[in-house]
Amino acid sequence: MLAQADQLDPPARGLLAGQLALVTGGGGGIGRAAVVRFAAEGATVAVLDIDHDAAHATADAVGGLALVVDVADTRAVAAAVDEVAREFGGLTAIVANAGLGVSIPIDRMSDDDYERIVAVNLGGTFATIRAALPHLRQAPGGGSLVTMSGTTGLRPARGEGLYGGTKAAIEMLTKDVALSYAPEVRANCVAPGYVATRLTAPLLENGVAREHVESRIPLGRVARPDEVACVMAFLCSRYASYVTGRTIVIDGGSLLPSHQSDELIRARHG
Ligand code: NAD
Repeated sequence: MLAQADQLDPPARGLLAGQLALVTGGGGGIGRAAVVRFAAEGATVAVLDIDHDAAHATADAVGGLALVVDVADTRAVAAAVDEVAREFGGLTAIVANAGLGVSIPIDRMSDDDYERIVAVNLGGTFATIRAALPHLRQAPGGGSLVTMSGTTGLRPARGEGLYGGTKAAIEMLTKDVALSYAPEVRANCVAPGYVATRLTAPLLENGVAREHVESRIPLGRVARPDEVACVMAFLCSRYASYVTGRTIVIDGGSLLPSHQSDELIRARHG
């Protein structure tokens, strides 16, 4: 039987009341926004980050737990995830967000660049998922995983083939989790376009580049980190109880297909 709308009142203490969450890369940018949003919605949150000060500052801001870990260190990730589950008495939501952005033409990419990007973006997400699964599967009412792709994982961009390749692989890992561990675990991915964070600051601080970027976004601006965090919170909430195996694009409309230039529209419609 379908649930009636009046059975879906928001929980009194927030969308994520009672949830026990871990956010990787939670010390800055989108991850930090997720930590703050999840805490505001009633979750108890752990912050995992390679940056000691950022991890502690964010955890302190929400009364959460800080773990200083490089997600490329798969053993350290496993130990940290288990530690959080022990401290919290379980884990119900994981946001595997930590990642590096790179834009390097393939013929200029070093072995070190290649290894680091793959180890952090793909290896780190894989290690986080693997460590989290046993805990998510035991979560009362089901656990949820949110992973981090990007529009570059969906549409090619020059100089971002390897970065986008790690993001496309993350989407496939997420779909595997959705298929293999249902119904105990729901797994979804978010794919933001440009978000104003430290990662994009070098590009967006250049006025000409920012204008170029924003001119191609129907909503006319880049995203704020909390606009991604809100979608992550929704995906981990009971409002998304029938959503799994999906990639939610958060791009201000920039991936909408259009072959129509301004000139063509003027020619047709005046
Ligand atoms: P950011 O650089 O602002 O923040 C990343 C956070 O992750 C930092 O706190 C950093 O210390 C931490 N981190 C980096 N490497 C780590 C590692 N090896 N282990 C643990 N923590 C690590 O970046 P952001 O823009 O918030 O990006 C977060 C995620 O979102 C990334 O996966 C990125 O690829 C993805 N993304 C960002 C954008 C964007 O426009 N900013 C768009 C699409 C996808």
